[in-house]
Amino acid sequence: MFKIISTSKNARLGILKTRHGEVETPFFMPVATKLAVKLISPNDLEKIGLKSIISNAFILYLDPGLNTIKKAKGVHKFMNYNNVIFTDSGGFQMASKAFLESIDEKGVHFRSPIDNSKHFITPEKNMEIQQQLKSDIAMVLDYMPKFEDKRECIEESVKITYEWAKRCKKSHKDKNQLLFGITQGGTFTDLRKKSSELICSLDFDGYAIGGLGMGEGPDLLDKAVKNSVKFMPKNKPRYLMGIGSVRDIVRAIGNGVDIFDSCYVTRHSRHHVVFTKKGEIRINKQKFRNDFTPLDKNCKCDTCKRYTKAYIYHLIKINELTWKRLVTWHNLYFVKNLIDEVKKSIKEDKFEKFKKEFLKNYKVK
Ligand SMILES: [Zn+2]
Repeated sequence: MFKIISTSKNARLGILKTRHGEVETPFFMPVATKLAVKLISPNDLEKIGLKSIISNAFILYLDPGLNTIKKAKGVHKFMNYNNVIFTDSGGFQMASKAFLESIDEKGVHFRSPIDNSKHFITPEKNMEIQQQLKSDIAMVLDYMPKFEDKRECIEESVKITYEWAKRCKKSHKDKNQLLFGITQGGTFTDLRKKSSELICSLDFDGYAIGGLGMGEGPDLLDKAVKNSVKFMPKNKPRYLMGIGSVRDIVRAIGNGVDIFDSCYVTRHSRHHVVFTKKGEIRINKQKFRNDFTPLDKNCKCDTCKRYTKAYIYHLIKINELTWKRLVTWHNLYFVKNLIDEVKKSIKEDKFEKFKKEFLKNYKVK
Protein backbone atom coordinates (compact mmCIF):
# COMPACT_ATOMS: atom_id res chain seq x y z
CA MET A 1 0.00 0.00 0.00
CA PHE A 2 2.85 2.40 0.85
CA LYS A 3 6.47 1.88 -0.07
CA ILE A 4 9.41 4.15 0.65
CA ILE A 5 11.75 4.37 -2.33
CA SER A 6 14.45 6.69 -1.02
CA THR A 7 15.20 8.90 1.94
CA SER A 8 17.42 11.90 2.53
CA LYS A 9 17.87 12.52 6.25
CA ASN A 10 14.20 12.62 7.43
CA ALA A 11 12.67 13.43 4.02
CA ARG A 12 11.07 10.50 2.23
CA LEU A 13 10.12 9.63 -1.33
CA GLY A 14 7.52 6.91 -1.59
CA ILE A 15 4.64 5.41 -3.51
CA LEU A 16 1.08 5.27 -2.22
CA LYS A 17 -1.11 2.66 -3.87
CA THR A 18 -4.86 3.21 -4.10
CA ARG A 19 -7.70 1.71 -6.12
CA HIS A 20 -7.23 4.56 -8.60
CA GLY A 21 -3.59 3.92 -9.17
CA GLU A 22 -0.35 4.94 -7.60
CA VAL A 23 0.77 8.37 -6.54
CA GLU A 24 4.31 9.37 -5.65
CA THR A 25 4.87 11.00 -2.26
CA PRO A 26 5.44 13.70 -1.21
CA PHE A 27 2.49 15.32 -2.94
CA PHE A 28 0.20 18.30 -2.54
CA MET A 29 -3.52 18.12 -3.19
CA PRO A 30 -5.73 21.09 -3.88
CA VAL A 31 -8.97 21.34 -1.95
CA ALA A 32 -12.10 20.42 -3.90
CA THR A 33 -14.63 20.60 -1.05
CA LYS A 34 -17.59 20.10 -3.41
CA LEU A 35 -15.61 18.11 -6.01
CA ALA A 36 -14.51 21.31 -7.75
CA VAL A 37 -11.14 23.04 -7.49
CA LYS A 38 -11.99 26.70 -7.99
CA LEU A 39 -11.45 27.76 -11.65
CA ILE A 40 -9.61 24.52 -12.51
CA SER A 41 -11.42 21.60 -14.18
CA PRO A 42 -10.56 17.93 -13.51
CA ASN A 43 -9.03 17.87 -16.99
CA ASP A 44 -6.83 20.87 -16.07
CA LEU A 45 -5.67 19.07 -12.91
CA GLU A 46 -4.41 16.22 -15.07
CA LYS A 47 -2.66 18.68 -17.40
CA ILE A 48 -0.97 20.38 -14.43
CA GLY A 49 0.06 16.94 -13.18
CA LEU A 50 -1.89 16.93 -9.92
CA LYS A 51 -2.69 13.32 -9.10
CA SER A 52 -4.85 13.85 -6.05
CA ILE A 53 -7.52 16.12 -4.59
CA ILE A 54 -9.38 16.23 -1.29
CA SER A 55 -13.11 16.63 -0.98
CA ASN A 56 -15.36 16.84 2.05
CA ALA A 57 -17.72 14.00 2.89
CA PHE A 58 -20.06 15.99 5.10
CA ILE A 59 -20.47 18.81 2.57
CA LEU A 60 -21.15 16.30 -0.24
CA TYR A 61 -23.68 14.54 1.97
CA LEU A 62 -25.53 17.88 2.18
CA ASP A 63 -25.04 18.90 -1.45
CA PRO A 64 -25.51 17.27 -3.99
CA GLY A 65 -26.45 14.50 -1.53
CA LEU A 66 -25.60 10.80 -1.42
CA ASN A 67 -28.36 9.81 -3.86
CA THR A 68 -26.86 11.81 -6.70
CA ILE A 69 -23.33 10.54 -6.02
CA LYS A 70 -24.60 6.96 -5.80
CA LYS A 71 -26.47 7.34 -9.10
CA ALA A 72 -23.25 8.69 -10.65
CA LYS A 73 -21.46 5.56 -9.28
CA GLY A 74 -19.14 7.43 -6.96
CA VAL A 75 -17.17 10.66 -6.78
CA HIS A 76 -14.67 9.74 -9.53
CA LYS A 77 -17.34 9.12 -12.15
CA PHE A 78 -19.38 12.13 -11.01
CA MET A 79 -16.55 14.58 -11.72
CA ASN A 80 -14.76 12.43 -14.31
CA TYR A 81 -11.42 12.51 -12.49
CA ASN A 82 -9.63 9.23 -12.59
CA ASN A 83 -6.93 9.91 -10.02
CA VAL A 84 -6.78 9.73 -6.24
CA ILE A 85 -9.62 11.31 -4.26
CA PHE A 86 -9.40 11.78 -0.49
CA THR A 87 -12.51 12.63 1.49
CA ASP A 88 -12.20 14.47 4.75
CA SER A 89 -14.83 13.54 7.30
CA GLY A 90 -16.04 17.07 7.92
CA GLY A 91 -14.41 17.32 11.35
CA PHE A 92 -12.91 20.57 10.13
CA GLN A 93 -16.39 22.10 9.91
CA MET A 94 -16.57 21.86 13.68
CA ALA A 95 -14.37 24.91 13.80
CA SER A 96 -17.05 26.80 11.88
CA LYS A 97 -19.93 28.48 13.67
CA ALA A 98 -21.96 28.22 10.46
CA PHE A 99 -22.20 24.43 10.89
CA LEU A 100 -21.72 23.39 14.47
CA GLU A 101 -24.59 22.98 16.88
CA SER A 102 -22.98 20.87 19.59
CA ILE A 103 -20.62 17.97 20.22
CA ASP A 104 -21.05 15.13 22.67
CA GLU A 105 -19.27 11.82 23.05
CA LYS A 106 -21.69 10.09 20.68
CA GLY A 107 -21.09 12.45 17.75
CA VAL A 108 -21.59 15.90 16.28
CA HIS A 109 -24.81 17.85 15.82
CA PHE A 110 -24.46 19.89 12.63
CA ARG A 111 -26.73 22.42 11.02
CA SER A 112 -26.79 22.78 7.26
CA PRO A 113 -26.15 26.36 6.15
CA ILE A 114 -28.00 25.49 2.93
CA ASP A 115 -31.45 24.83 4.38
CA ASN A 116 -30.93 24.96 8.15
CA SER A 117 -31.69 21.22 8.42
CA LYS A 118 -30.17 19.42 11.40
CA HIS A 119 -27.89 16.40 11.16
CA PHE A 120 -26.39 14.12 13.76
CA ILE A 121 -23.13 12.66 12.50
CA THR A 122 -21.64 9.77 14.44
CA PRO A 123 -18.32 8.10 13.53
CA GLU A 124 -20.33 5.13 12.17
CA LYS A 125 -22.57 7.36 10.06
CA ASN A 126 -19.52 9.23 8.74
CA MET A 127 -17.85 5.99 7.64
CA GLU A 128 -21.05 4.92 5.91
CA ILE A 129 -21.13 8.24 3.99
CA GLN A 130 -17.48 7.99 2.92
CA GLN A 131 -17.87 4.37 1.80
CA GLN A 132 -20.87 5.33 -0.30
CA LEU A 133 -18.94 8.19 -1.88
CA LYS A 134 -16.31 5.60 -2.94
CA SER A 135 -13.34 7.87 -2.34
CA ASP A 136 -9.90 6.24 -2.38
CA ILE A 137 -8.93 7.44 1.07
CA ALA A 138 -11.35 8.14 3.89
CA MET A 139 -10.42 10.18 6.94
CA VAL A 140 -11.78 9.32 10.39
CA LEU A 141 -14.16 11.70 12.09
CA ASP A 142 -12.03 13.73 14.48
CA TYR A 143 -12.78 16.36 17.06
CA MET A 144 -10.92 19.42 15.98
CA PRO A 145 -10.37 22.08 18.64
CA LYS A 146 -9.74 25.73 17.86
CA PHE A 147 -6.23 27.14 18.12
CA GLU A 148 -7.21 29.52 20.93
CA ASP A 149 -8.84 26.74 22.99
CA LYS A 150 -7.49 26.13 26.48
CA ARG A 151 -5.45 23.05 27.32
CA GLU A 152 -8.47 21.26 28.84
CA CYS A 153 -10.36 21.54 25.52
CA ILE A 154 -7.37 20.20 23.57
CA GLU A 155 -7.09 17.30 26.06
CA GLU A 156 -10.78 16.59 25.56
CA SER A 157 -10.31 16.62 21.78
CA VAL A 158 -7.43 14.11 22.06
CA LYS A 159 -9.65 11.82 24.11
CA ILE A 160 -12.77 12.06 21.92
CA THR A 161 -10.73 11.83 18.70
CA TYR A 162 -9.30 8.53 19.98
CA GLU A 163 -12.71 7.13 20.96
CA TRP A 164 -14.17 8.11 17.58
CA ALA A 165 -11.15 6.71 15.72
CA LYS A 166 -11.77 3.31 17.35
CA ARG A 167 -15.42 3.41 16.30
CA CYS A 168 -14.52 4.50 12.73
CA LYS A 169 -12.02 1.68 12.41
CA LYS A 170 -14.56 -0.86 13.69
CA SER A 171 -17.37 0.21 11.38
CA HIS A 172 -15.26 0.74 8.22
CA LYS A 173 -15.72 -2.33 6.01
CA ASP A 174 -14.57 -1.37 2.49
CA LYS A 175 -11.20 -3.08 2.16
CA ASN A 176 -10.42 -1.22 -1.08
CA GLN A 177 -10.81 2.17 0.56
CA LEU A 178 -7.85 3.23 2.69
CA LEU A 179 -8.62 4.72 6.09
CA PHE A 180 -6.36 7.31 7.74
CA GLY A 181 -6.37 8.21 11.43
CA ILE A 182 -6.04 11.82 12.56
CA THR A 183 -3.95 13.01 15.49
CA GLN A 184 -4.65 16.15 17.52
CA GLY A 185 -2.94 17.82 20.47
CA GLY A 186 -2.69 21.45 19.42
CA THR A 187 0.79 22.81 20.01
CA PHE A 188 1.29 20.98 23.33
CA THR A 189 4.29 18.65 23.14
CA ASP A 190 2.90 16.04 25.54
CA LEU A 191 -0.58 16.04 23.98
CA ARG A 192 0.81 15.63 20.44
CA LYS A 193 2.80 12.64 21.70
CA LYS A 194 -0.19 11.17 23.50
CA SER A 195 -2.53 11.59 20.52
CA SER A 196 0.01 10.14 18.07
CA GLU A 197 0.64 7.10 20.28
CA LEU A 198 -3.08 6.46 20.82
CA ILE A 199 -4.08 6.84 17.17
CA CYS A 200 -1.07 4.89 15.83
CA SER A 201 -1.92 1.99 18.18
CA LEU A 202 -5.08 1.46 16.11
CA ASP A 203 -3.16 0.47 12.95
CA PHE A 204 -4.62 2.73 10.25
CA ASP A 205 -3.41 2.83 6.62
CA GLY A 206 -1.92 6.29 7.22
CA TYR A 207 -1.75 9.02 9.82
CA ALA A 208 -2.71 12.66 9.61
CA ILE A 209 -1.54 15.55 11.75
CA GLY A 210 -4.64 17.65 12.36
CA GLY A 211 -5.54 20.87 14.10
CA LEU A 212 -2.65 22.95 12.75
CA GLY A 213 -2.41 25.81 10.25
CA MET A 214 -4.74 27.75 12.54
CA GLY A 215 -2.54 30.76 13.19
CA GLU A 216 0.10 29.14 15.40
CA GLY A 217 2.92 30.48 13.19
CA PRO A 218 5.79 28.62 11.45
CA ASP A 219 7.88 27.82 14.52
CA LEU A 220 5.12 26.28 16.64
CA LEU A 221 3.90 24.45 13.53
CA ASP A 222 7.38 23.01 12.95
CA LYS A 223 7.64 21.90 16.57
CA ALA A 224 4.16 20.32 16.60
CA VAL A 225 4.90 18.43 13.37
CA LYS A 226 8.18 17.07 14.79
CA ASN A 227 6.41 16.06 18.00
CA SER A 228 3.77 14.15 16.04
CA VAL A 229 5.93 12.45 13.40
CA LYS A 230 8.35 11.16 16.06
CA PHE A 231 5.69 8.76 17.33
CA MET A 232 4.38 7.59 13.97
CA PRO A 233 5.50 4.35 12.30
CA LYS A 234 8.01 4.75 9.46
CA ASN A 235 6.18 2.43 7.08
CA LYS A 236 2.92 4.43 6.88
CA PRO A 237 2.21 7.69 5.02
CA ARG A 238 2.01 10.90 7.07
CA TYR A 239 -0.34 13.66 6.10
CA LEU A 240 -0.16 17.24 7.40
CA MET A 241 -3.68 18.62 7.03
CA GLY A 242 -4.42 22.18 5.97
CA ILE A 243 -0.87 23.35 5.26
CA GLY A 244 -0.19 24.88 1.86
CA SER A 245 2.36 27.67 2.16
CA VAL A 246 5.39 26.49 0.21
CA ARG A 247 7.82 27.36 2.99
CA ASP A 248 5.84 25.22 5.46
CA ILE A 249 5.56 22.36 2.95
CA VAL A 250 9.33 22.25 2.37
CA ARG A 251 10.05 22.37 6.10
CA ALA A 252 7.49 19.64 6.86
CA ILE A 253 8.90 17.35 4.15
CA GLY A 254 12.20 17.77 6.01
CA ASN A 255 10.40 16.50 9.12
CA GLY A 256 9.21 13.37 7.32
CA VAL A 257 5.73 14.41 6.11
CA ASP A 258 4.46 12.88 2.84
CA ILE A 259 1.08 14.45 2.01
CA PHE A 260 -0.33 17.99 2.07
CA ASP A 261 -3.58 19.75 1.30
CA SER A 262 -4.70 23.33 1.65
CA CYS A 263 -6.93 25.92 0.08
CA TYR A 264 -4.08 28.41 0.65
CA VAL A 265 -2.77 28.05 -2.92
CA THR A 266 -6.04 28.55 -4.78
CA ARG A 267 -7.43 31.14 -2.37
CA HIS A 268 -4.32 33.30 -2.48
CA SER A 269 -4.32 33.07 -6.27
CA ARG A 270 -7.66 34.85 -6.31
CA HIS A 271 -6.17 37.59 -4.10
CA HIS A 272 -3.38 38.54 -6.53
CA VAL A 273 -0.69 36.43 -4.83
CA VAL A 274 1.79 34.78 -7.20
CA PHE A 275 4.39 32.25 -6.01
CA THR A 276 7.89 32.69 -7.39
CA LYS A 277 11.24 31.15 -6.47
CA LYS A 278 12.03 34.42 -4.68
CA GLY A 279 8.82 34.44 -2.65
CA GLU A 280 5.29 35.72 -3.07
CA ILE A 281 4.55 38.78 -5.20
CA ARG A 282 1.32 40.73 -5.67
CA ILE A 283 0.55 40.92 -9.35
CA ASN A 284 -1.89 43.85 -9.05
CA LYS A 285 0.95 46.27 -8.22
CA GLN A 286 1.48 49.21 -10.56
CA LYS A 287 5.14 48.24 -11.08
CA PHE A 288 4.05 45.30 -13.27
CA ARG A 289 2.25 47.51 -15.81
CA ASN A 290 5.17 47.32 -18.24
CA ASP A 291 6.87 44.14 -17.03
CA PHE A 292 7.02 41.85 -20.06
CA THR A 293 8.52 38.85 -18.24
CA PRO A 294 6.59 35.73 -17.10
CA LEU A 295 5.17 35.43 -13.56
CA ASP A 296 8.21 33.41 -12.53
CA LYS A 297 11.48 33.16 -14.41
CA ASN A 298 12.06 29.59 -15.70
CA CYS A 299 8.49 28.42 -14.85
CA LYS A 300 7.21 26.03 -17.52
CA CYS A 301 3.49 26.28 -16.75
CA ASP A 302 0.97 27.13 -19.49
CA THR A 303 0.50 30.65 -18.06
CA CYS A 304 4.22 31.47 -17.99
CA LYS A 305 4.86 29.91 -21.41
CA ARG A 306 2.37 32.31 -23.04
CA TYR A 307 1.71 35.40 -20.94
CA THR A 308 3.58 38.23 -19.24
CA LYS A 309 3.09 40.00 -15.93
CA ALA A 310 2.06 43.11 -17.87
CA TYR A 311 -0.74 41.23 -19.65
CA ILE A 312 -2.07 39.67 -16.42
CA TYR A 313 -1.86 43.07 -14.71
CA HIS A 314 -3.88 44.48 -17.62
CA LEU A 315 -6.55 41.74 -17.25
CA ILE A 316 -6.90 42.64 -13.57
CA LYS A 317 -7.27 46.34 -14.39
CA ILE A 318 -10.00 45.76 -16.97
CA ASN A 319 -11.69 43.29 -14.59
CA GLU A 320 -11.38 40.39 -17.02
CA LEU A 321 -11.77 37.35 -14.75
CA THR A 322 -9.49 35.11 -16.81
CA TRP A 323 -6.58 36.40 -14.73
CA LYS A 324 -7.76 34.41 -11.71
CA ARG A 325 -7.58 31.19 -13.67
CA LEU A 326 -4.17 32.02 -15.15
CA VAL A 327 -2.71 32.80 -11.71
CA THR A 328 -4.33 29.74 -10.07
CA TRP A 329 -2.90 27.55 -12.84
CA HIS A 330 0.59 28.99 -12.29
CA ASN A 331 0.47 28.67 -8.49
CA LEU A 332 -0.76 25.06 -8.56
CA TYR A 333 1.93 24.20 -11.11
CA PHE A 334 4.53 26.02 -9.00
CA VAL A 335 3.77 23.86 -5.93
CA LYS A 336 3.63 20.68 -8.00
CA ASN A 337 6.93 21.53 -9.70
CA LEU A 338 8.58 22.49 -6.40
CA ILE A 339 7.67 19.09 -4.95
CA ASP A 340 9.08 17.43 -8.10
CA GLU A 341 12.36 19.25 -7.39
CA VAL A 342 12.17 18.11 -3.76
CA LYS A 343 11.70 14.51 -4.92
CA LYS A 344 14.73 14.78 -7.18
CA SER A 345 16.81 16.10 -4.28
CA ILE A 346 15.67 13.20 -2.06
CA LYS A 347 16.64 10.69 -4.77
CA GLU A 348 20.09 12.26 -4.93
CA ASP A 349 20.26 12.49 -1.13
CA LYS A 350 20.64 16.26 -1.32
CA PHE A 351 17.39 17.35 0.33
CA GLU A 352 18.94 19.37 3.18
CA LYS A 353 21.04 21.36 0.70
CA PHE A 354 17.96 21.94 -1.47
CA LYS A 355 15.90 23.06 1.53
CA LYS A 356 18.57 25.48 2.73
CA GLU A 357 18.93 27.06 -0.72
CA PHE A 358 15.19 27.27 -1.27
CA LEU A 359 14.40 28.83 2.10
CA LYS A 360 17.27 31.31 1.73
CA ASN A 361 15.84 32.63 -1.54
CA TYR A 362 12.14 32.38 -0.69
CA LYS A 363 11.08 35.56 1.06
CA VAL A 364 7.87 35.43 3.08
CA LYS A 365 6.26 38.75 3.92
ZN1 LIG B 1 4.13 29.63 -14.25
